[in-house]
Amino acid sequence: MASVRDIVLVSQGNAVLREKAKKVQKIDPSLQRLIDDMTLTMREAPGVGLAAPQVNVGLRVIVAEAPRDEDDPQSGRLYAVVNPEIVKASPEMEEGEEGCLSILGWNGLVNRHVWVVVKGFDREGREFRIRARDYVARIFQHEIDHLNGILFTDHITDRKKLWKSDERPDWLDESEAADEPEVVG
Ligand SMILES: [Zn+2]
Repeated sequence: MASVRDIVLVSQGNAVLREKAKKVQKIDPSLQRLIDDMTLTMREAPGVGLAAPQVNVGLRVIVAEAPRDEDDPQSGRLYAVVNPEIVKASPEMEEGEEGCLSILGWNGLVNRHVWVVVKGFDREGREFRIRARDYVARIFQHEIDHLNGILFTDHITDRKKLWKSDERPDWLDESEAADEPEVVG
């Protein structure tokens, strides 16, 4: 049985969020247990992605689940990727709204590649590639950043593009970024 793990917050000053996570050397039952716990923790939060450092484990593991139907959080495909790597990315970038389960209460607009190709291993240790675009690509970029100690706020240089979640700016609804659902991971 999987269990929900505590999510590490930036406000707790936990260094694991700022460290480069280590490559997984061996896929064994304890790693599969980590994946199951991360999946449950992400769903309970709720969020659309989670990286192992967010549950205080400094390993290169992410989970992502973007709903296809906004009324059903589990309507999309669930990805668990061990040692994920972006091997190709679109030159084209797009701004979209993000929040983070480790930075509660803040949202912002982040510029990301429109599509990426991610290479990694599944829970059985099989290598695979995913070509993701738009929303799913944004989730992967947010989560892979976590493995490198990077937070979404690091990408925001224009202070007005970062706001408190309960003070959502009016201009946002007029912008193109409002067309896509928000990434919280
Ligand atoms: Zn995050």
